[in-house]
Amino acid sequence: MKIICVGRNYAAHAAELNNPIPQTPLLFLKPDTAQLLDGYPLFYPDFTKDLHYEVEVLLKICKNGKHITSEFASDYYNEVSVGIDFTARDVQDECKKKGHPWEIAKAWNHSAAIGRFIPIEEAKDETGNIDFSLTKNGAFVQQGITSEMITSFDDLIVYISKYFMLLRGDVIFTGTPKGVGPVQIGDQLEGFIGKQSLLNCSIK
Ligand code: MG
Repeated sequence: MKIICVGRNYAAHAAELNNPIPQTPLLFLKPDTAQLLDGYPLFYPDFTKDLHYEVEVLLKICKNGKHITSEFASDYYNEVSVGIDFTARDVQDECKKKGHPWEIAKAWNHSAAIGRFIPIEEAKDETGNIDFSLTKNGAFVQQGITSEMITSFDDLIVYISKYFMLLRGDVIFTGTPKGVGPVQIGDQLEGFIGKQSLLNCSIK
């Protein structure tokens, strides 16, 4: 499986890191070795002093496809979860300064925490949106709602599948809302859709 991530898909988050809003979705990949499943700890990497959480809604691809049109886009995912796009922010800032790719800041071992997937219909609120959040040591640190996404799930599927063939089991990280921040050794992170806890991760 591969992990496809979307950057700057919430305007307020782009602003908090002083980034412009991209004209088209900003994509990057994480390898399958980046996976960290629900319940497993993350060991603080020794190459960063500024490890950040970014909570995101995840889509799991359920059907193979490329060049998918918007009419059929929603057929390609039926389960969602929350994940954490762990980012070595200091390393990323260096990469950005040099105009280098981001992989050493974002695609390292276990940098993609992936929660338990649930059917998308179960995840939606009365308005058809997905409300998601992250707590650190029991206190809310990040909250988002998918109605604030710049590019919708379906439009992401269309755009991503122009470049990358989607295969069953691939996971899309759909972007983080405002409120990213640092973690320390000993922190306990928990990700939610609505009131459902779908991801637990401690930092060791
Ligand atoms: Mg992210």
